[in-house]
Amino acid sequence: MSMRRREFLAAGGAALAAGLAGCATLKAGPAPKARVVVIGGGYGGATAARYIRILDPAIEVTLVEPNESFVSCPISNMVLGGFKSMADITRPYSGLERRGVRVVRDSATAIDVEGKRVRLSRGDALPFDRVIVSPGVDFIWEALPAMNNADAQGQVLHAWKAGAQTAALRRQLEAMPDGGVYVLSVPEAPYRCPPGPYERACQVAAYFKRAKPRSKVLLLDANADVTSKGPLFKKAWADLYKGIIEYRPNSKATDVDVRGRAVKLEFDDVRADVLNVLPPMKAGTIATPFITANRRWCEVDWTTYESKAVKLVHILGDSLQIAPAMPKSGSMANGHGKVCAAAVVALLNGQAANASPTLINTCYSMVSDTQAIHVASVHKYDERDRTMKAVPGSGGVSAAMSELEGAYTMNWAANIWADALS
Ligand SMILES: Cc1cc2nc3c(=O)[nH]c(=O)nc-3n(C[C@H](O)[C@H](O)[C@H](O)COP(=O)(O)OP(=O)(O)OC[C@H]3O[C@@H](n4cnc5c(N)ncnc54)[C@H](O)[C@@H]3O)c2cc1C
Repeated sequence: MSMRRREFLAAGGAALAAGLAGCATLKAGPAPKARVVVIGGGYGGATAARYIRILDPAIEVTLVEPNESFVSCPISNMVLGGFKSMADITRPYSGLERRGVRVVRDSATAIDVEGKRVRLSRGDALPFDRVIVSPGVDFIWEALPAMNNADAQGQVLHAWKAGAQTAALRRQLEAMPDGGVYVLSVPEAPYRCPPGPYERACQVAAYFKRAKPRSKVLLLDANADVTSKGPLFKKAWADLYKGIIEYRPNSKATDVDVRGRAVKLEFDDVRADVLNVLPPMKAGTIATPFITANRRWCEVDWTTYESKAVKLVHILGDSLQIAPAMPKSGSMANGHGKVCAAAVVALLNGQAANASPTLINTCYSMVSDTQAIHVASVHKYDERDRTMKAVPGSGGVSAAMSELEGAYTMNWAANIWADALS
């Protein structure tokens, strides 16, 4: 075992022991160089927690996450198609614990920036020198008034956070009789994962084609056209799902008839057998005090991910006000996590952060049980305009859907889960 690996394990053991005994014991032990609290163990937060421990094991990292395991949104549409199980998209947090990240299974209820503490719903407040916030998205339920209560939200599902709703929506699809209509309502961009709804339409259609061939998928899109990989998705719909998928652009949901299982559009109501509504989205609730753009998203300094509103608070992932051409994706959140981790480690060591970071995005979409398409891009920090800009000529889209791309998709998932959690 190398020296470095032994140091990791020793640091990890100490942090774990302290974690079990709570904050009081932490204070009694040798003081860490600095304390970082990470809120949210998804693509952004888990990656940041892991990389801070890799870059500087003398920094104490505490990850606050209510869920017992990491459940991936990427690949979750294949659970709806019946081609993957919930176990296939679920990974433990034990890899991070082995790195010495203290994982606290709780929800952050407030960030006391003045007092440098994160308050929790059950446990003692956690002190920090810097806090990283990556809570994903929450929904603007007020935009669909009839959905603004727990009862309605239990009936008309979004399944846009992987977990219990993914399994529940799959059960609704299984229970739907052959000849039924599945309606997926897509909000105006920006929303989490631009190609996600179109991939979902493919996966549900693949299931219908195999198991319920008289059934239909109706995509009601608030946008004027498919927001990502349009020509590739349209070709997949024509070649693989002709007569099954119907796409209606400019079809913004204004409300939902929960009991009648219908989406209300501006001029008509569209009834469904299984209704899947994606409400408009905004930064995760715990990030609300740091929202600075359109009353929905948080702006940051792209070299450090420090909030433009408040110092010492770093924000990652879907909660961000995106830079031009930057999608809200797991790929991006993973990249934000790495750049932020390096910046936080530099700042806590009295050094300057990298002044010119680069991010890479690849979004795969499974258009059947085996075939996929992708879009990729490179984003570089522009020092004059202080934003990330897509590098001209970088990336691009797949030439065509293929099984090879399908294999790459599974490799991408295995790699990014390891990069965030191992
Ligand atoms: C169906 C679907 C398919 C997708 N497919 C892809 C894909 O193929 N490729 C891709 O790159 N992206 C994909 N995405 C997008 C990707 O899932 C998100 O962009 C990514 O998860 C964003 O990372 P995040 O860290 O911002 O949020 P998340 O990964 O959602 O993590 C947020 C975490 O914060 C926790 N949290 C929230 N509030 C609190 C709190 N108060 N206290 C403590 N913890 C809290 C949550 O429990 C959650 O674990 C897909 C999304 C969907 C819905």
